[in-house]
Parts: sequence; structure tokens; C-alpha cells
Amino acid sequence: MYRAPRGTQDILPQEQPYWRYIEARAKALCQLYGYERIDTPIFEEAGLFVRSIGSGTDIVEKEMYTFPDRSGDSMTLRPEGTAPVCRVYLEHGMGSRPQPVRLYYVSPIFRYDRPQKGRYRQHHQFGVEALGEADPLLDAEVMEMAWRFFTDLGISDFSILLNSIGCPQCRPAYLEKLKDYYSRLAPRLCPDCRRRLEQNPLRLLDCKQASCLPLGEDAPRSAEHLCSECTSHFQRLRSYLDALGLPYRLDHRLVRGLDYYTRTVFEVQPSEEGAQSALGGGGRYDGLIQELGGRPTPGVGFAAGIERAVLALKHLGTPVPPLPRPQVCLAYLGDGLEAARLASALRQKGIPVLMATGSRSLRAQLRQASALGMSYTIILGEKELASQTVVLRDMAQGTQREIPLADIATALASL
Ligand code: AMP
Repeated sequence: MYRAPRGTQDILPQEQPYWRYIEARAKALCQLYGYERIDTPIFEEAGLFVRSIGSGTDIVEKEMYTFPDRSGDSMTLRPEGTAPVCRVYLEHGMGSRPQPVRLYYVSPIFRYDRPQKGRYRQHHQFGVEALGEADPLLDAEVMEMAWRFFTDLGISDFSILLNSIGCPQCRPAYLEKLKDYYSRLAPRLCPDCRRRLEQNPLRLLDCKQASCLPLGEDAPRSAEHLCSECTSHFQRLRSYLDALGLPYRLDHRLVRGLDYYTRTVFEVQPSEEGAQSALGGGGRYDGLIQELGGRPTPGVGFAAGIERAVLALKHLGTPVPPLPRPQVCLAYLGDGLEAARLASALRQKGIPVLMATGSRSLRAQLRQASALGMSYTIILGEKELASQTVVLRDMAQGTQREIPLADIATALASL
């Protein structure tokens, strides 16, 4: 027996209402803020991700699904959503459109992670990106969207954590300070952090190992080592957030796991669970489009994990609207030709009908209709066929009436 690959999930029909509901809320949110839908391929040239996420990151080092295609080109299943959108911006000349270009996506993401609850090898993200504008008003806009997305879903028990990690002007000096600080503590660091100390010292700040955790508290703080432009950006962002009444908490250890971030980084963390379970995250990436070969072009965005939103809705017991499905079943006796014609004619008029199939007794067909939760069953037996009528049975009431065949569509439409 084959099973779904480890770390992947089938989204069964009974799960679909959660997914469609969340997607509909995401779409409505994006319409509210003027973000347009974009869909990109599930795989891209591996180089796009290595270049943007950064070669020393966990995603590139350990988590990407990279494979040679049949002509030997190296391809990667999308491990995050921002780099493809930046590629689209460049490839389709979106720099000549009115800026910023506001886009959103809902797409599968692939990471060879250690599977556990809320952590999968294929998951889905709803993400937004605003490209071509450096104004901190936009950072506030995407943070507000992240906040509104979860609160509109009825998920309110979360905090928004915020930090600024500076820019290529001020970050190198800060990283030196950070390296100095951690070098002195090297014997107490976990093996991963000892290795990261040279390659990616920022990541030491968010190491979750028990030995490293207490060391981060007294580490130099990026927000205290910003250049004047980054300081002013951060201050203006915070004043926008205050003006919007958006609650957030400063967290000097928040750095995010991708190299392309500049200045603003933020994360949506549920209040009750551990740090592994961020609901969403994002930030500014002012150097990324240039890194991919374009002119210097700022950008800011966020992405939310849909599986985690589904888990949160279930945990809260939030009801989601059911998906539409037929309420009318058609049961019949005989060869079924007339029944098939009737079902087809009703569907032609836009009335959803579920056809009973197989040569079952009428009683068995009615039992099946009731098990499927049908509100009505149309019965087309031999007597009805002869008189060109049908019987319409109300399944809840157990009542039924005879209707001329020609009038059944009108009768159903009026119910
Ligand atoms: P990231 O780009 O890693 O910050 O991911 C954005 C959001 O996607 C996270 O905040 C999570 O909600 C979700 N996410 C990331 N990785 C996974 C995963 N392996 N399984 C499920 N959800 C994930």
C-alpha cells in the first residue's frame, strides 16, 4: 500500500471547508488593500533560491528539494514565496508600472523539515508582497494585513513581534559586535551555533537550544546599532503602528531565517505555544531585487502558514461555512434513461442533483439519500414514468407529493 510521503497531507473533502474559507478570507483581505493575485511555477531554477535565501541558511543547506531535470538543469521546488515574485517583477518589467506593485499568492511550499504537528514537508502559504517602494507606511500596511488576516479568522490570541536588523551600511559593524560577544562564549554554544558564528552570526540570536537560549538575552541588540536612515525608518514604522493601534512587541532576538531581510522583520506568534509555531512572518527585503540582477528596488511582505491557521481554527472550535453540494437526489426504477435525461436537464438549469446509481431498490436508494444528508429526493418509478410525473420527497419531514415532470425544475427552484 502506498501512503502519502512523510510530512505531506491529503486535504480530504471534509477538510476542504477550512481551506476554502481561509483562502476566501485571504482573497477578500487582498481586495480590501489592493493586492492582485499572482501564481508562479511550483519549481524554479535552483539558483534563484540559493541567491536570494542565502547559501548559509538552513533552508538552502538542509531543506530544499533540488533535483536535476532531464536536461541536467538544477531545479528546486519552491521553498518560499518571495524570490519567485521578485523574479516575476523583473521578468515582466513590472518596474515600469506605478509603484509599489502589490501582489499576493496562495501556494504550496516545500521544505525537507523534520515533520511534527504544524510542521510539514509540503505546506501552504498565503503571502503578500509590495514591491518598488521603501516607505515604512508599507511595512505598517503588510503588518496590519497580517494582523487583520488572523483576527478576521477569529484567531486573536497572538502577538506580533518586531525588530529591525539594519541594512548593508550598518549591519556589518553590528555583526562584528555580535561575533565578539558570542566568541567569548564559544565553549557554551551548541555545535550548530559554533559553526554559524562565522557564517551567519545573526542566527545565534534565535537558537532554541537550552544551552544557547540564555546567552541571547545580553547579546548586542541590532535595533541599538542602526544607521541614521534605518533608525528613522524604524521610528516612523513604529509611529504608523501606534497610529493604527496595532499591538506589537519589540523582540531583539527576532532575525528570521532568510538572508534577504533588511530593516523590518516581524513574526506572528501564538501566545500559548512554543517558538516553533509561528503563524506567519515577514519583513523588508530592499536588496533582493538588485541581488537578482535588477535595479535597486525595495520590497516588503509577509506570509502566513495555512495549515497552522487551520489547526488554530480547529483548536478554537470555530465553525466554517460548509461548501455547497447537491441537496437533491434522484432515485429511479427501470433502465434509468429517463432519469439520466431528467438529471441532465435539471443541471442544465443550474440545479445540483446527485444521481442514485446501480440497480438498487427504491428503499435502498432512499436510505442512501438520507445517509448523504439530502434534503429532497425525486423519485421516478415505473408508475411516474407512465404518467409523466415524479414524486418529490422531503427527507426531513418524510412527506411527499406528486408533480408533473414538466414542473419539477420550477418546484425545486422555489424550495
Ligand atoms: P517562514 O517563511 O519560514 O517564516 O514561513 C512563513 C510561515 O509559514 C510560518 O510562519 C509558518 O506559519 C508557515 N510554515 C513555515 N514552515 C512550515 C512548515 N514546515 N510546515 C507548516 N507551516 C510552515
